[in-house]
Amino acid sequence: MDWTRIIIAVAIMLALGSLMGLLLAVADSKLAVEVDERVDQVTKMLPGANCGGCGYPGCANFAEGLVTGEVSKVSLCNVAKKEEHQAIVDYLNETPGPDGEISKVSV
Ligand code: SF4
Repeated sequence: MDWTRIIIAVAIMLALGSLMGLLLAVADSKLAVEVDERVDQVTKMLPGANCGGCGYPGCANFAEGLVTGEVSKVSLCNVAKKEEHQAIVDYLNETPGPDGEISKVSV
């Protein structure tokens, strides 16, 4: 058994593993996408039926539309109750996004 070759192979694998780990760490920091947590929160506040009745393919898309200002009326979701509409309006009108902006929506 040639131990020198085995040691060289292990050293090469360790070096490649370290290099790939470093590249992944750099890519993770450079390519990170800023996520607006309000989208997740509003999605949780919606009924979750994903029925498309609001004109969006699902509740998460509708939530994103509300947060970005593409949609201003929460009542476009006919599945949610009035109290749920108001809770979303209150949340969005009181919670600034990562840029400090408030999404102005109404029932
Ligand atoms: S109408 Fe309401 S329940 Fe249906 S997809 Fe739109 S937000 Fe979701």
